[in-house]
Amino acid sequence: MSAIGKLLKGQWVQRGLASANCRSMSSRGGSSGGLRVLVDMDGVLADFEGGFLKKFQARYPNEPCISLEDRRGFWVSAQYGQLRSDLCEKAISIWESKNFFIELEPLPGAVEAVKEMSQLKNTDVFICTSPIKKFTYCPYEKYAWVEKHFGCDFLEQMILTRDKTIVSADLLIDDRPDITGAETRPSWEHILFTSCHNKHLTPNQPIRRLHSWADDWRAILDSKR
Ligand SMILES: [Mg+2]
Repeated sequence: MSAIGKLLKGQWVQRGLASANCRSMSSRGGSSGGLRVLVDMDGVLADFEGGFLKKFQARYPNEPCISLEDRRGFWVSAQYGQLRSDLCEKAISIWESKNFFIELEPLPGAVEAVKEMSQLKNTDVFICTSPIKKFTYCPYEKYAWVEKHFGCDFLEQMILTRDKTIVSADLLIDDRPDITGAETRPSWEHILFTSCHNKHLTPNQPIRRLHSWADDWRAILDSKR
C-alpha cells in the first residue's frame, strides 16, 4: 500500500468513519466499456456555495457577506476581495478549515441521480474533483463525504486531480465555466452545471447546461451514446 493509502486508511480507522468493508482492499474494478461520465463534486454534488455562506456568517457575523443571489464569478474569494480586500483571506480561511468539506450538504437530487446513473447499463460514472492545495483536510474529507453519501464501493470511482483535461471521458458535468489544463483538446464534452455563480453567464462557446439534478440528465447521456 502506498504511503498516502496507509495515511488515509489509518485516518478512517482512527476516526471510525469506515465500515469493515471499506477497509478491505477489494476493488470494484472493471469497466462497462460504454459511456464514461465525470461528475464534479463542489457545486454539482456538494453545496459548496451554501455551506460557505453559512460558515462565513457564523465565523464573521460582523463582516459583510454576499448572498447567493448576488454571487458572480467562479472564485468566491475574488468576489469577497472586491467587496473589501481583507475579506479574500477570510473567505479562504473558511474552506481551509477542518470539517468544511465533510459537512457540506448534498445538492437536491444529486446523490439519487448519480447513484441511478451509475446503475445504468453501459455507463461508467466517476466523481472527478480538484482538491484545494492546502491539503490538510480537503482530500481526506472528500473521500469521507463520498463514503458517507454513496457508500464505500463508490470510493473506487473517485478521481482527485487539479487537471481534469487529461482525464479521458465522454462527458464532464461541472459548474466551472472555464476548464483548462495541459490538454488543449479534452476528450469530454463539458456540460455546465448551473450554479448561483454562473447562471447569468453567456459563455463565448456554445455549451450545454444541466440546470439542476431535476433537469433531464438522462437525455444528455443518451445524446452521447
Ligand atoms: Mg465545481
